[in-house]
Amino acid sequence: MRVPRNVINLLGVPIDRVTSHEAVDLLLQFLESGRLKRFFHMGGQHHVMTPNSEMLVEATRDKHFKKILQSTSLNIPDSVGLLYMARVMGQKFPERVTGVDTVTKLFKKMKDHHPVFLLGAAEGVAAKAATKLKKMNPQLHIVGTHAGNPSDKDADEIIAKINKAKPHLLLVAFGAPQQDLWIAKHLYSIPSVRVAMGVGGTFDFITGRQKRAPLWMRKAGLEWLGRLIRQPTRVGRIFKAVVVFPYLVLIRRFR
Ligand code: UDP
Repeated sequence: MRVPRNVINLLGVPIDRVTSHEAVDLLLQFLESGRLKRFFHMGGQHHVMTPNSEMLVEATRDKHFKKILQSTSLNIPDSVGLLYMARVMGQKFPERVTGVDTVTKLFKKMKDHHPVFLLGAAEGVAAKAATKLKKMNPQLHIVGTHAGNPSDKDADEIIAKINKAKPHLLLVAFGAPQQDLWIAKHLYSIPSVRVAMGVGGTFDFITGRQKRAPLWMRKAGLEWLGRLIRQPTRVGRIFKAVVVFPYLVLIRRFR
């Protein structure tokens, strides 16, 4: 049975103190848990999130989004800002665990008894990601892809497609917070899904549509700067992450 969660609370949101390796093992446990009653969470379905600094800022503004972040089975510490701010609170995450690395490592280990569905990203990207992932691990059983978008008018079509494919694992790339709002709203309508995870730009990275920052930048905690240079339109999000987030944590810490 899963041991109690070991979390650090940042702006009222529990973030799991896990290594990348532990996160992948938990995801594999959750996928198996559909068959084991004692693991049941929300009727055997697990919502996994990859919170970053902007998402935690958004949660201070949007109570519904915050509730979703508080109701997941696992929140992996996806941004370096979370690691720094945990330090300010006198706590420590073992390492940064990104969505894209987690998905890649998970897919290397997965066997064909857990069907996968890739939802979101621009037209053709999820399908291209599926081809790349199958090359990486021929045992992967990808039962469907759909570009789509998170709007309510498209939900019935997407849900029907997922229910027909019956995946155990659903990855949703609609960007935050839409992808996790979508999962929280529709998870009960797609009962085959044991694990649903919002993955942001993961399919773009896997297909090479977006380049990740060089390794030295990632190691130096500067991936956000690399993304800002490549996508200057993200400046508002980066401001939230590197200015607003630390400010909110610090005023709570010293209040
Ligand atoms: N996206 C989508 N439909 C939408 C909005 C976004 O499929 O209505 C996709 C977009 O193409 C991209 C992903 O969602 O693949 C969001 O990536 P982003 O870089 O914003 O996410 P991050 O990694 O920063 O969380």
